[in-house]
Amino acid sequence: MERATHSTYTVNCPNCGGDAERHHLAESGVVRTQCPHCDYLMITCHHTGKVIEAYAPGIFACR
Ligand SMILES: [Zn+2]
Repeated sequence: MERATHSTYTVNCPNCGGDAERHHLAESGVVRTQCPHCDYLMITCHHTGKVIEAYAPGIFACR
């Protein structure tokens, strides 16, 4: 499913297991995953899968 739009999916947060949001930003060619429960953040290149930026607050952060 390739669309030149901003798509949002709900995924399991790899940090706390909660509901995280995955945004496919086709314009900038990146995928941003962020979790509202634990502030987990990961930005990867949509084309290469390479991690551009990642932040995990630790496994104790889930409330
Ligand atoms: Zn989380």
